Amino acid sequence: MIRLEVLGPHTLLLSTLCAKCPQGPAGCCKAPPEMDWSDVGRVVAGGGRDFLLARIAKKDLIPTEDGLVLRRVKRREAPTEPMERKCVFHGAGGCTIAPPLRPATCNYFLCEDTFIEGGERKGERSAVLARQAHGALRATYERWDAELSARVAAGFPEGPAWDAAFLDWLGEAFVELEAASPLARAGEGLG
Ligand code: SF4
Ligand code: SF4
Repeated sequence: MIRLEVLGPHTLLLSTLCAKCPQGPAGCCKAPPEMDWSDVGRVVAGGGRDFLLARIAKKDLIPTEDGLVLRRVKRREAPTEPMERKCVFHGAGGCTIAPPLRPATCNYFLCEDTFIEGGERKGERSAVLARQAHGALRATYERWDAELSARVAAGFPEGPAWDAAFLDWLGEAFVELEAASPLARAGEGLG
């Protein structure tokens, strides 16, 4: 079954299948998404600037030309579980950080198996709406990434310093883009 928590850019798509993921205990957290410019801006806008600075210092988040990469670690959460290479933020009970601190993809991505399990082919409304939300969110975040990428390149030709001032600037740029988007009105534009 699929459940939607429609919160504009912070929308969560949840599937009961994830608790018994066919990919293993870490599910798709074995291959964490990158934290793109729009993700970094969204996290800062949600009050997560100091979280980002602390995790960059710990090298859990690694700066790249496109934002931040989430470090992968190799570990098992219990002696009975397999050793897995997975996102540093994945723990025994799933993700250990709150949705506003994650890349948006972590919040809205669902694999094809979940749509099958959720009854999309039978027209189950929650699955059909989740598919629409997924498409709308991905298109919006891609557009925001392109816009923020251009602004970062123009404003920081030598590359950003990854300090508080830069993160605040990025958070403000995200807020500006969000305010101009239909997604800012939670629930609208998501089918
Ligand atoms: S979205 Fe799919 S691959 Fe990812 S945890 Fe859920 S069931 Fe597993
Ligand atoms: S941030 Fe959380 S949800 Fe995203 S890949 Fe890492 S553990 Fe999974």
